[in-house]
Amino acid sequence: KTHLNSVSLGRAIRYTLARARARSHEWDSPMFRLAQQQFLKAAHIMNLDDNIRQRLLFPQRTQLVSFPFFRDDRSQVETVFGYRVQHVLTMGPTKGGIRYHEDVDLGEVAALAMWMTWKCGLMKLPFGGAKGGVRVNPTVLSKRELQRLTRRYTAEIIDMIGPDKDIPAPDMGTDERVMAWIMDTYSQQLGYTVPTVVTGKPVVLGGSLGRKEATGRGLVYLIEAAATHLGLDLVTSTAVVQGYGNVGSHTARFLAEAGMKIIGISDVSTGLYNPEGLSLEALDAYVSENRVLEGFPDATAITNAELLELECDVLALAAMQNQITVENADRIRCKLLAEGANGPTTLEADEILNERGIFVLPDILGNAGGVTVSYFEWVQGTQNFTWTLQEINERLKQILFDAFQRTLHLAETEKIDMRTASLIGGVSRVRDAKLLRGVFP
Ligand code: GLU
Repeated sequence: KTHLNSVSLGRAIRYTLARARARSHEWDSPMFRLAQQQFLKAAHIMNLDDNIRQRLLFPQRTQLVSFPFFRDDRSQVETVFGYRVQHVLTMGPTKGGIRYHEDVDLGEVAALAMWMTWKCGLMKLPFGGAKGGVRVNPTVLSKRELQRLTRRYTAEIIDMIGPDKDIPAPDMGTDERVMAWIMDTYSQQLGYTVPTVVTGKPVVLGGSLGRKEATGRGLVYLIEAAATHLGLDLVTSTAVVQGYGNVGSHTARFLAEAGMKIIGISDVSTGLYNPEGLSLEALDAYVSENRVLEGFPDATAITNAELLELECDVLALAAMQNQITVENADRIRCKLLAEGANGPTTLEADEILNERGIFVLPDILGNAGGVTVSYFEWVQGTQNFTWTLQEINERLKQILFDAFQRTLHLAETEKIDMRTASLIGGVSRVRDAKLLRGVFP
């Protein structure tokens, strides 16, 4: 019996879920169920209108494609699956990244799209949530293969995207090069250049200053705000960072700049531990030569499970979903858990962390720096005007601090956890918009 059943998410939530699943639906997967359960928990506490609850429980539009893909050195064509899910179209264009990963499925993309809706709502951005994915391992592809794959996937979903419709961005396994190819493919189709169809593009193509590091920078702004709230002095504190991709590496850098000692770090190849503190310059130099952290000399190699259980002040998650679960939540030894990844903590684990008094910066708040600067990029693009890095960082900080204060206030006054408070912040904005727009026809 799970913690969830025994503890109390309330009969209403179980009833709604059971009703929704009486006939299993296409998005059903463990990750989509987590997103639905989190939403239903928030909906229950905020006493959300039942019609709205039912409408928000599923994505509005879903596209699933399969397409042929030629590898450089093989004559055989592979069939690859691609997805694009738009969860809520009420708020304006939909927004969200594209993920390349060998395990991506429809349920994962749908869950990520739902989280994008709440994230944009919480940040008060004029977007609904979307997400895309391609089931492929990008790390084994050549640059030419990656470009071909990206262009074909873009062609397959081209009717869904557009600067006023749905605006992709980078996510796990994609980067600014991939965004450039998507933008080029879309522009070729229309016959003129449309930079605003994607965000997170290279600066020379109309990308925004500060976008690349925005998620990590935002997470560290929020860690600073949370540390002040908790009375934690970062200069004498230690941090562990899970993940060394775009989010993890920037998070580690900004944490070190804030004076923290980084005692643990990891990537897909290994975890590293050094109680004296890891040198990020040495790590970067090592990774640029060896591609991965494995074999880095000035640290002890540890497993991912050991890394998560290290004693530290701040544990920043910047890798995959489903990391803190009922299996390890009892053994997490940080004061502040900062979620740069999407969906790293399960619902059961949340309850355990709360009971143990660990302060959580939930994903839709913690990693919202990325989509916020994406919004700045889109605004600059639509106005053909650029902002300075200083302007971008100041606006980013202001938006994140405001969302943090609102969330903390709600959590304290309603005596709920930070995740539920952040979800209520996002959901209530979408609810208000839906009620005002009414039902067509
Ligand atoms: N993929 C990022 C996220 O999960 C950014 C999305 C965006 O910039 O649109 O928030």
